[in-house]
Amino acid sequence: MLGLMQDWPLTVDKILDHAAEWHGGREIVSRSLEGPIVRTTYGAMHDRAKRISNALKAMGVKLGDRVATLAWNSGRHMEAWYGIMGIGAVCHTLNPRLFADQLCYIINHAEDKVLFTDLTFLPTLVERRAQMPSVEQVVVMTDRDHMGAAAALPGALCFETLVEEHSPDCVWGGFDEHTAAGICYTSGTTGNPKGVVYSHRSNFLHTLVTLQRDVMGLSLHDVALMVAPMFHANAWGLAFSCPAVGCKLVMPGQRLDGAAVLELIETEGVTFAGAVPTVWQMLLQEVRARKASFSTLKRVLIGGSAVPEALMRAFHDDYGVEVIHAWGMTETSPMGTLGVLTPEIAALPYEEQLPYRLKQGRTPMGVELKLVDDSGRRLPHDGETMGRLKVKGGFVAARYFKAEGGDILDADGFFDTGDMATIDAAGFMQITDRVKDVIKSGGEWISSIEIENLAVAHPKAMLAAVIGVAHPKWDERPLLLVKLREGESATRAEFLEFLEGKIARWWMPDDVVFVDEIPLGATGKIDKKLLRHRMEGYVLPTAQADGVK
Ligand code: AMP
Repeated sequence: MLGLMQDWPLTVDKILDHAAEWHGGREIVSRSLEGPIVRTTYGAMHDRAKRISNALKAMGVKLGDRVATLAWNSGRHMEAWYGIMGIGAVCHTLNPRLFADQLCYIINHAEDKVLFTDLTFLPTLVERRAQMPSVEQVVVMTDRDHMGAAAALPGALCFETLVEEHSPDCVWGGFDEHTAAGICYTSGTTGNPKGVVYSHRSNFLHTLVTLQRDVMGLSLHDVALMVAPMFHANAWGLAFSCPAVGCKLVMPGQRLDGAAVLELIETEGVTFAGAVPTVWQMLLQEVRARKASFSTLKRVLIGGSAVPEALMRAFHDDYGVEVIHAWGMTETSPMGTLGVLTPEIAALPYEEQLPYRLKQGRTPMGVELKLVDDSGRRLPHDGETMGRLKVKGGFVAARYFKAEGGDILDADGFFDTGDMATIDAAGFMQITDRVKDVIKSGGEWISSIEIENLAVAHPKAMLAAVIGVAHPKWDERPLLLVKLREGESATRAEFLEFLEGKIARWWMPDDVVFVDEIPLGATGKIDKKLLRHRMEGYVLPTAQADGVK
């Protein structure tokens, strides 16, 4: 027997329809690439996105065709998103931090038919245009006055001209909710990038989950700053969640530096913001340097990599801002877990809450987690046993785009995250490493992340990374690499003493090397593959013939 309720396909165009109808006057503020801060509303965005849909149809874009965007977070970028998805085309967000070769690879792999670009990326496009044979049209997201910059791209179209020339009369939706809505390629630390294909339904379900009070808990009364890029795991869903509740939305464009972000927070009255730890570190440096504070900011969502204790404390102790630590990945749309406290833990003094706040947290309804060993057997949730983290849910990837071999799930339908984790008795998951970065010493696992998090709390450290280096007796031993703060100098012993007593003795790095640079990958995470490559052949003092211990 089937239910007798209406069939209302869960397609994302309905989100902007709703925002335009019920929150039509609410503002969307962007720092434009042309310079000034620009303002629009959900009502105007809806109208303009429909014009973009008609422009795409006129270019021959049909249901299922891929349309790429190479752009920072802005109102125009969001108009392109909804314009593409509304007609059932698939929005492929390109990460501009990828190398040009990788960009060409994924454009060709996705067979993008149209490409929307910001002015910033014109030089790359001019240089590589010939290597993107599937791309029939390039749309530059600017106005006529700035189209001069696109002179070297013959035939490039102007976004504002398309908006002017096309009608806002366009019917959105009307297709199956399982239709593809977007593609995002994972940064691919091994092999080629892999395409995660979101459906309208998965985005819609993800939006509903983000709106749970213990997830992002956004309200119409919030002013949300979307720093997390739209090209990295859908800006954590904020480009859907904000219009879904009708809250004011603020976007930083290309300027992610502390001064620019602080200005937006203060002048726009931001209450909620989402960004990776590095952005917050830059912001706090600026706030401290200016001896400023936050007048409206209440909650910050931090994810993408682990939140260092110093960052958590600074927000809480110095500025009274609540930190929500989140874990997720491109394959999970991305929201997987959140460090939101249970009533029992919230009743504890802050110092006792802290270890829980620093974990990646608990799953919201809609996400299932399990911890398994190498043979797939479930491991206990005792907060001690480290295992492979697997995840399942209505917005978790089942396979990659055009991938050989089909599903990427185990027999119970779980996806292997590639993360190592523990889960404690209160349900808090903690990422201990990436499977490929965990250090295997004498048959036991050492968490590189845990040592890094402790080392980076040293007052002289700017960044810290730990990698496994070959060792004749133990297979691998940890090596700590430190980038010091400007003008500082330090010794190996200072760092080892700092770690003393904070980690097990056998986790103690065998050496400390001070470096000028710790390379970050396209999504702002430490590029361990490159670090390992750079340190290839490095001989630990403990591995020298007479020093093997
Ligand atoms: P991406 O698909 O590029 O977003 O990368 C996802 C990966 O980032 C995850 O599998 C984790 O390894 C890592 N990650 C994301 N959030 C966190 C976090 N809060 N703490 C530690 N690692 C994280």
